[in-house]
Amino acid sequence: MHELTITQNILKIVLDAVKGQKARRVKAVRLLVGPFSGVIPECVQMYWDVLAKGTCAEGAKIESREAPMRVHCRDCGKDGEITHRRIACPYCGSVHLQRLSGRECTVESLEVE
Ligand SMILES: [Zn+2]
Repeated sequence: MHELTITQNILKIVLDAVKGQKARRVKAVRLLVGPFSGVIPECVQMYWDVLAKGTCAEGAKIESREAPMRVHCRDCGKDGEITHRRIACPYCGSVHLQRLSGRECTVESLEVE
């Protein structure tokens, strides 16, 4: 259900973006997915194949890239980015971090023809 709603939103964004352009077909949609968004790109692709049928985005390939997560360090007060491999403050190494992002799922770019 989660991915269905997300896919509907992404499709709307994509169709709005290509509206008025000369693009005949959307070939690929690149997503920036936060590590805590819970979005599984394979599921998005599955729904996409159904929802985009009959639009210029039919058959587009869903590609994704994991977005770095922005955090605020409670110890040194700086904002930084962490990844799954490094879950400590990049400045002081503290793990007392406040999450600023990570649940987002946005369209990074489109490949059209
Ligand atoms: Zn710190």
